[in-house]
Amino acid sequence: MDAKERAAQLRERLQYYAKLYYEKDAPEISDYEYDLLMQELRKIEAAHPELITPDSPTMRVGGAPVEGFAQYRHEVPLQSLNDVFSFEDVEAFDRRVREVIAFPEYVVELKIDGLSVALAYQDGVFMSGATRGDGQVGEDVTGNLRTVRNIPLKLEGVPGRLVVRGEVYLNHHALEVLNERRAAAGEPLFANCRNAAAGSLRQLDSRVAAARGLDIFCFNVQQASDVAFSTHSESLDFLKAHGFPVSPYYETFTDIADVCAEIRRLGEMRGELPFDIDGAVVKVNSLADRELLGTTSKAPRWAVAYKYPPEEKATVLRDIVITVGRMGTLTPNAVLDPVRVAGSTVSRASLHNEAYIAEKDIRIGDTVLIRKAGDIIPEVVSVIADLRPENAAPFRMPETCPVCGAPVSRLEGEAALRCTGAECPAQLQRNIEHFASRAAMDIEGLGEAVVEQLIEAGLVHTYADLYDLTKEQLLSLDRFAEKSAENLIRAIDESRARPLSRLITAFGIRQVGESAARTLSRTFGSLDRLMTATRDELLAVEDIGGITADCILDWFAGEQSQDIIARLRRAGVNFQSDEAPTDLRFAGMTFVLTGTLTRFTRDAAKAEIENRGGKVSGSVSKKTTIVVAGEAAGSKLDKANALGIRVIDEEEFLTLIAD
Ligand code: NAD
Repeated sequence: MDAKERAAQLRERLQYYAKLYYEKDAPEISDYEYDLLMQELRKIEAAHPELITPDSPTMRVGGAPVEGFAQYRHEVPLQSLNDVFSFEDVEAFDRRVREVIAFPEYVVELKIDGLSVALAYQDGVFMSGATRGDGQVGEDVTGNLRTVRNIPLKLEGVPGRLVVRGEVYLNHHALEVLNERRAAAGEPLFANCRNAAAGSLRQLDSRVAAARGLDIFCFNVQQASDVAFSTHSESLDFLKAHGFPVSPYYETFTDIADVCAEIRRLGEMRGELPFDIDGAVVKVNSLADRELLGTTSKAPRWAVAYKYPPEEKATVLRDIVITVGRMGTLTPNAVLDPVRVAGSTVSRASLHNEAYIAEKDIRIGDTVLIRKAGDIIPEVVSVIADLRPENAAPFRMPETCPVCGAPVSRLEGEAALRCTGAECPAQLQRNIEHFASRAAMDIEGLGEAVVEQLIEAGLVHTYADLYDLTKEQLLSLDRFAEKSAENLIRAIDESRARPLSRLITAFGIRQVGESAARTLSRTFGSLDRLMTATRDELLAVEDIGGITADCILDWFAGEQSQDIIARLRRAGVNFQSDEAPTDLRFAGMTFVLTGTLTRFTRDAAKAEIENRGGKVSGSVSKKTTIVVAGEAAGSKLDKANALGIRVIDEEEFLTLIAD
């Protein structure tokens, strides 16, 4: 690939990732990987300036403001920073600075990983604030910023206009609390502190933002009408004196070797800090020197951000244990010798699925490298092959569910294995809730909490047990009084008469929702007929494809399902549809019509076949089941004979379709 093609490819990928990151707060790759792609593009553009396009990601800051907030034009643009990834790059930066300034002084600060904002004060009163957006125009999030607990809303002795820049962030503890709440509510978890902070600050409802526990560190005075500073550190001291939280470590250095040592020191502290940093920022301290150095449209020439690589640690993988989720998915998890990575102790890591383990060839006993993906979720990066014990065997997923012992199966096109057990305890709560839900057996009063209680008390092990419950049993539980117990028993009793389609829905067979359940009920007419349906017969049903047919067959073939059906039958649950079953005698068969039929038009004959689940094709092949030959049949008949396919005449066809 030449430079031009690679540049175009990088641009497209960077734009895609940036959109996910800035507008959806949902990154697909780590920041470090993103920064490296950006650096590659920057290098290509530096070597081939003719390739630079005005819309290149290297020319831009941040993302477009999202909808829902008023736009906010920044009085002083909020610039980005140029990244560096090595100490040589830091030294090169120093050389560039020294071309203009003979004796520069630097400040080194933590680069906090959050969301950049500007805060505007008038005569000491916090007036408004906004996100960075594209640096010129951001989102007005004044209401949400007011809820950030450590932003001072009133300053003493600061007349005129003051605009301060800071980084809004969430600390590790706040993220943990937030994610626990989200997990309990069944909401997706935030991948890391930065995304959680961005998502929280851009809540349209300030009460939601307020509950998230956001913090801020301020790192720059953008504008001050009535105060003058000569250095950056002076301005930080000023901010501190007026109650702004500023980055806890900022020191000045004149030697670039000391700057690098400080970057290293901050990097080593990284794991101990209660918040995320993604780098250290080196800035020229004198404001007059900054003027001389100037800025580009995107970033100042007087500063660089040193980005730390994601921390990786080696540890031993002692075991791989399988957990079964509520949807029956089997997930392999690494059990690790505890190791401290990026701020917390890690002793477990998800291995996702069999393919992931096979790809990295992860084996029990291996020494593995651990990293936190997006700096939060532990993952196994790779295996250190040299340290593998001799007897370490490739890992195999179990063939049966470790919780209930039912066979596991993999759906076409899915990486995950699933437990097929209809009675699997790992799935019980969900299965019973589903069974009782509105769309299924519609059992009023059998909500989540009651189901939980019934399972805990050992009263139900499958939904078939519901029909054996007695009022006395319910009364023995905390939640029930005479009336409520009677009501639930009545609701369960009434559910016996529900239409067959609801019972099919209630089984919770994968791929079979309400609509498919209605079609199956209508087509087969009874549960007993559906239970004996062949794959061909299922495929002949409208909207049932191969995957669904297999799910249905698997489910009915399961021992646990058979047991449940027997018990539901004994409990008197309705297995019949009101409608007569559909004729499926031609299911799985393909017909070819040739010659002239005397009693049917072609279309009528075709309809007779299709109404019985058969297919009609225009040409004879090995897949043809029967050729119906009328008068003056020609080449198709010859071909059928040559292939040894069954040929019938119109009379015989009439017998086949007769009731
Ligand atoms: P940047 O985040 O690398 O650096 C600039 C920002 O650093 C400033 O806006 C400021 O908010 C912040 N900062 C924190 N502490 C600071 C301090 N002490 N002094 C000065 N600034 C400080 O630059 P960017 O243009 O905002 O880059 C975007 C970031 O978003 C990068 O880290 C990039 O990896 C990430 N990103 C990731 C993806 C992805 O898919 N993972 C996509 C787009 C962007």
